[in-house]
Amino acid sequence: MLYLRYMLGILINLLYPASCQVCGIKTNRWNENICADCLKNMRKRLPPFCRKCGRQMPGNPGSENICADCRNSAVYFDRALSAFHYDDSLKELVHSFKYNKATCMAKEFSDLITAFMKQHGIDREIDLILPIPMHPARLFKREVNPSDILAKNIARKLSVRYSGAFLKKIKNTRAQSKLSRHERIKNIKGSFFLTRHGAIETRQKNILLVDDLFTTGSTVNECARVLKKAGSGRVNVITLARGDSLP
Ligand SMILES: [Zn+2]
Ligand SMILES: [Zn+2]
Repeated sequence: MLYLRYMLGILINLLYPASCQVCGIKTNRWNENICADCLKNMRKRLPPFCRKCGRQMPGNPGSENICADCRNSAVYFDRALSAFHYDDSLKELVHSFKYNKATCMAKEFSDLITAFMKQHGIDREIDLILPIPMHPARLFKREVNPSDILAKNIARKLSVRYSGAFLKKIKNTRAQSKLSRHERIKNIKGSFFLTRHGAIETRQKNILLVDDLFTTGSTVNECARVLKKAGSGRVNVITLARGDSLP
């Protein structure tokens, strides 16, 4: 059976050679969408992290600090971490993942995220994995919600329950990317809703929220606020990348 799958893989690769979504070179396997060289170029985030939002902090790897942003604002999630720096090579990749529906990269991304979670010991004691929902109107336009694809894959890898039906986006907000930190918080407030069934299912449960990008954290924070208000347990956040620069 394994042999058959192996042969089938070679055949598919001959018929439909896969290429790296970043540099375009042909890859070795039919399901390999990012080549080994480009994977090496993705810069992994290194500790010490702010123990709330996961911002990279100065100091020794073992030191525990809370950044100024987290000290001065209401943070509802317990801990957020991002696996990679959102630099130029990753920007291109995430852009095609988000806008060109290049869902073929979901497997690679999810593997990298789970490896990062295991490395930092945040893969345990999770009862439920939830994606950041998209407003139905936007989902209709975009067809895929990258956060949902990542959440599903990570849940499968960690053997944890997933649900894309508990949290709903009820306000079709302006795109956050061009707004300031303060405007983002105002823009996103009240835009998520936890269904009645979701409120029951998330009660006292430790939750992992999954998203592709962490910028100011206002989106995940608003989801965490809604979950905590309904009585959830710990709310942690994992994202593929984060856009802050090195201190
Ligand atoms: Zn490449
Ligand atoms: Zn922080």
